[in-house]
Amino acid sequence: MRIVHQSTTFAATRFKRSSTSSIQTSSPCSPVPREEGPTLCVPTVQGECLLKYQLRPRREWQRDTVITCNPDEFIAEALELTNFQESVQEYRRNMQSSPVPAEKKSQYPEIIFLGTGSAIPMKIRNVSSTLVNLSPDKALLLDCGEGTFGQLCRHYGDQVDRVLGTLAAVFVSHLHADHHTGLLNILLQRERALVSLGKPFHPLLVVAPTQLRAWLQQYHNQCQEVLHHVSMIPAKCLQKGAEVNNPTVEKLIRLLLKACDLEEFQTCLVRHCKHAFGCALVHTSGWKVVYSGDTMPCEALVQMGKDATLLIHEATLEDGLEEEAVEKTHSTTSQAIGVGMRMNAEFIMLNHFSQRYAKIPLFSPDFNEKVGIAFDHMKVHFGDFPTIPKLIPPLKALFADDIEEMVERREKRELRLVRAALLSQDGESQQKRAHTEELQSPQSKKVRA
Ligand SMILES: [Zn+2]
Ligand SMILES: [Zn+2]
Repeated sequence: MRIVHQSTTFAATRFKRSSTSSIQTSSPCSPVPREEGPTLCVPTVQGECLLKYQLRPRREWQRDTVITCNPDEFIAEALELTNFQESVQEYRRNMQSSPVPAEKKSQYPEIIFLGTGSAIPMKIRNVSSTLVNLSPDKALLLDCGEGTFGQLCRHYGDQVDRVLGTLAAVFVSHLHADHHTGLLNILLQRERALVSLGKPFHPLLVVAPTQLRAWLQQYHNQCQEVLHHVSMIPAKCLQKGAEVNNPTVEKLIRLLLKACDLEEFQTCLVRHCKHAFGCALVHTSGWKVVYSGDTMPCEALVQMGKDATLLIHEATLEDGLEEEAVEKTHSTTSQAIGVGMRMNAEFIMLNHFSQRYAKIPLFSPDFNEKVGIAFDHMKVHFGDFPTIPKLIPPLKALFADDIEEMVERREKRELRLVRAALLSQDGESQQKRAHTEELQSPQSKKVRA
């Protein structure tokens, strides 16, 4: 398993750029062309986040706010944190004493979390997308939030076209922008990649709520032709017991199973917005991966996911925010773990964290040896299951300050709730007293009479 901190990846890229760029030394108003790429007949300069151009008093490029980062410093800082090195050593000792059994060491499936945050993309967590590499030449995407292609580029670098060439299908759980808007770019980039790989073009299999078609149609009509990129299988047609009377859809379902080496691709409605689905994939080799999409704890998902090898479940909010979770139709961490336990899943990976937990979610006592938390760019094999929970103590040491801050916030919130409850109790007893007094007053007696 490998965790790449996205900010580090960003930072490293930036560091490289700023150290090789000669913009700093160039004379005012003489931008330097990019070192690579086509030579243009007009002066060009590569944009960078927070790069500024000043017009007056002196025309010049200003790079003082461009963020640079030294990865070595970044690592050195982490190593100085209290208990961090000790907990890493402890983790290593643990791993040496309980090596992964040989039968679990298989390289596939390989699950790569490309986006593990909810609602909006942030620096550390992008929005929902998980790549499942089924074999060296077959892959499937579970959701496709905005920026999924960018995340693939960050993860695979020059290999991104090869990966796009292996993409056999995309599952879109529901039509919230953090789950489906990245699809358009994936379609377009996949076409480009197939051309550059010299592979023949064929439409991508997309399992999604039927409403996705209207959205694609609108984009197709108003912006750019995309419909020929997609062979759509309505998610409802993959529900247990669904009758499929359309021969084209039937054919596409057979194609989907074959293209992904799956015995079964099942969906079920989950408790989120209208037309929101979860899915369960059963591979020909026997493993079963279940994906919740966005949902409150859902019995249909528990049933569909029975005895899953891996459950990937959303855990948008921390424990204690159950009311907010109902309002927003999401799950808390313990609710998500509960679903996995009822399902008898061998392992549960939590994702789709609210961006208030961008660095790390708050842990609850329900975390056990079957539970892990996902980070963007984390790569997981089934053989990693025993390892992942053991990473929690080093992670807690690494993000101790952030956890402390979140605990403080929680305590303040709980205090506010207690105060509000006391006040309302007070108010109620005052009301009761007033009511009793009212009942006892001669005037009220008169009214009652
Ligand atoms: Zn979402
Ligand atoms: Zn949603």
